[in-house]
Amino acid sequence: MSVRDPRAAAETVRVAIRKLLSGRALTALEISGQVGIPHKAVDEHLEHLQRSSAHRGERFVVEAASCLGCHYEFNDRQRLGRPSRCPKCKGERIDPPRFRIEAA
Ligand SMILES: [Zn+2]
Repeated sequence: MSVRDPRAAAETVRVAIRKLLSGRALTALEISGQVGIPHKAVDEHLEHLQRSSAHRGERFVVEAASCLGCHYEFNDRQRLGRPSRCPKCKGERIDPPRFRIEAA
């Protein structure tokens, strides 16, 4: 398996992210810093891990983003990225979602 193979490289990144998220919750920005990949690339890896977690006997947990202004929680959100604006108070100071992986 060559590291130049993009599929193998993506798999290596996902293994690193899975290790990071075992036992602690991190934001996409924290994951990007620790794994050394662009912030924008993190969501796609997280979506992949979320889809495949059941096959591995794991549970992918999303701790919802919340608004720092009115404490609104984005519990119904399907997308994993950080919301830009609060639907309730229209504030833009959002505490981003955090992700962790547990054994099911
Ligand atoms: Zn708000």
